[in-house]
Amino acid sequence: MADPARLSLNTATVREAWDLGACIEGCARHGIGWIGPWRDAVAAYGLGRAVRHLRDAGLGVSGLCRGGWWTAGSLAEAIDDNRRAIDEAAALGARCLVVVNGGLPEGSRDLAAARARCLEGLAAVLDHARAAAVALALEPLHPMTCADRSVLVTLAQALAWCDTLGEGVGVAVDSYHVWWDPDLAASLARAQGRILAFHVCDWLRDTRDLVFDRGMMGDGVIDLARLRGLVDHAGYDGPIEVEILSRRWWGRDPDEVLATLKERFVACV
Ligand code: ZN
Repeated sequence: MADPARLSLNTATVREAWDLGACIEGCARHGIGWIGPWRDAVAAYGLGRAVRHLRDAGLGVSGLCRGGWWTAGSLAEAIDDNRRAIDEAAALGARCLVVVNGGLPEGSRDLAAARARCLEGLAAVLDHARAAAVALALEPLHPMTCADRSVLVTLAQALAWCDTLGEGVGVAVDSYHVWWDPDLAASLARAQGRILAFHVCDWLRDTRDLVFDRGMMGDGVIDLARLRGLVDHAGYDGPIEVEILSRRWWGRDPDEVLATLKERFVACV
């Protein structure tokens, strides 16, 4: 069983009903000690106001979602935006900046070039991140997202990028993206000391939408307790974010969602 003190609310889980302020109050009300905000929620609420509210509520920030997107527009713009994301993560006292790297550029079929561009972007912001003491957590996404969201698709590939980039870079392990991987246990063993974030939700057998139909822990097919054990074994003892992007759950009362995820965290993770 995961220690309930490790539970963190990724704000995307209740993003349709609550702004960042309501998420902070909700965590306080439900005894959740960590939060993982998204940048758009921070921007809408105001960075300074968010910093004050988080401090007053005594909440820790498990990670800021998200930097990356190296391949969407110009690389120079992406580099500037990632430097701003690093500054925001530093202001929030976030344990890391979660990086989702981006898919193939519009009209391109050159996967190798897209991957090279991600590495170029990461290398370009690394000094800034190191100076700000913000660790970059590379999040491999499920290969179904390779065209439009992430050319980084496995934990093994993410660890290879970490090897290339060096100090200040680690990985974010998200159950939804890595559970299917036959090399997962071996990759997690190799990730010793390099896991910066751990996100959990479940994969529904009858999933209706590959982006917005993530399952509540216990409703799907992922052995989350086993995965958590492997992640623990790799030396990660930080907060565990519940990140459920789901039209089903967005339609529910957020207080009910928080009560449910707290219960399931203890029962299933
Ligand atoms: Zn995630």
